[in-house]
Amino acid sequence: MTTTEDRVSALRPQLEAWRRWLHQHPELSFQEFETAKYIVSELNKLPDLQVSQLTPTSVLAVLKGGKPGKTVLLRADIDALPIHEENTFEFASKTPGVMHACGHDGHTAILLGTAKLLSEDAANVPGEIRMIFQHAEENGPGGAEELVMETSLMDGVDVVTGLHLNSQLPAGQVAVKAGPFMASPDMIELTIQGRGGHGAHPEEAVDPIAIGAQVVTNLQHVVSRHVGAQDALVVSITYFQSGSTHNVIPDTARIMGTVRTFDPELRQKAPKLIERVIKGVCEAHGATYVLNYEFGYRPLINTDWVAEELRQIALDTVGAGHFSEAKATMGGEDFSAYLEKAPGAYFNVGSGSDEHDSRWPHHHPRFTIDELSLETGVKMMHAAALRLAQPQAN
Ligand SMILES: [Zn+2]
Ligand SMILES: [Zn+2]
Repeated sequence: MTTTEDRVSALRPQLEAWRRWLHQHPELSFQEFETAKYIVSELNKLPDLQVSQLTPTSVLAVLKGGKPGKTVLLRADIDALPIHEENTFEFASKTPGVMHACGHDGHTAILLGTAKLLSEDAANVPGEIRMIFQHAEENGPGGAEELVMETSLMDGVDVVTGLHLNSQLPAGQVAVKAGPFMASPDMIELTIQGRGGHGAHPEEAVDPIAIGAQVVTNLQHVVSRHVGAQDALVVSITYFQSGSTHNVIPDTARIMGTVRTFDPELRQKAPKLIERVIKGVCEAHGATYVLNYEFGYRPLINTDWVAEELRQIALDTVGAGHFSEAKATMGGEDFSAYLEKAPGAYFNVGSGSDEHDSRWPHHHPRFTIDELSLETGVKMMHAAALRLAQPQAN
């Protein structure tokens, strides 16, 4: 009797082959045509899967198990980033300026491996396992939103899970957390309209730089004086552009920044708090403004019971020595869109090691993974599918 452990070990060369092909052929968000074609052709080699495309650059594989059970959605994202790869290994990106620098090549290989294990043992699989190879995680409004809102993907789904590799965790480690996990990455874009003039006569101008500086400073008071210390809110001004030379007061200043929180209620209140500051400062100094406030992905809040199941699965699969409690991060993730429709939880699999020089941060031109993490990912996704699809799960 071969164990899952043995089956995953035997799968390792195939997992590497998938991941390395994908790594060599990265495609940007909403342009994953060759990636989707590759995934379809690999899935078509497996028995008992229904393979279809709900959008032009995503792929859905459905496995109807031989036993009664629930419908579980497993998700991998498949897109790459506009980064020029600096790695020199033989499977580095073949496309200048585009790179799998977030590990989505690994996520895709992991879900292909999971599909292979499940489909080869379909008679013993409970329920229905849907595996979505999702496009465009890296670029808003995101592929998840499109799949959730505009297709039948989520119809009848009882529970959803997915993972992200994490270069800051040791390869082979699994980290899970109940509740708030990732933040809502919202965006502000502000133009302050002053009145330009001679640098010698500020009294005749309305200086958008001086006013903009006040706005930036006062926005920090939204965080420190209008939001409780327990409710995490980040306001970071990341762009301030104005003026062209030393003796001219410019007409306008452009300011951009990011606003992030885990709290859906605070998220709804934040635009009002922020605009009140901008309006007050601008009016006080005689300027006008145009504010564009854009909501990004929702905060990712794991369902408690699903996170608890994943914790148990991790303890059973990798053991307590390779398990850690995940830390919430202010990063964003469109996996949150699925959680609007079904309970679920997202988790991390460590991919960092010195041996494989894979501790570079995500989105870095030297980013890579220790491929041991592919095995860990498959073990986790496979076990999660089987356990969450049990008829009595929750
Ligand atoms: Zn990313
Ligand atoms: Zn990512």
